[in-house]
Amino acid sequence: MAGAGGGGGVSRCEAWCAGDDYGEDHTCVGDFAELELTAQPGEVSDDGVILGRLCVANRRRPNSAPLVGIGIEAAPYSADLVLTSAEARRLAAILVECAEKIDNPLF
Ligand SMILES: [Zn+2]
Repeated sequence: MAGAGGGGGVSRCEAWCAGDDYGEDHTCVGDFAELELTAQPGEVSDDGVILGRLCVANRRRPNSAPLVGIGIEAAPYSADLVLTSAEARRLAAILVECAEKIDNPLF
């Protein structure tokens, strides 16, 4: 639910927020998109092989700018990155460019 906005203040909640706790220290978090990493070596567990994954969602901490968050869980790697919207768009363009070179080498 979007806040009133206006003025110089940061609105209380972003339109893309999927959270349900709107307290003073509320961090807005958008819907998660998950991507299984099939080319990354998996982690062997009692239940079989667990694939690594990326977890992407918008987030905005109190009194901060909105960012795109990328959680990386691919044993032994675990990291949590945040990008500005401009950086996220640049990364997306770079990924598409690289993928195109693999899928359409004569392009
Ligand atoms: Zn929120």
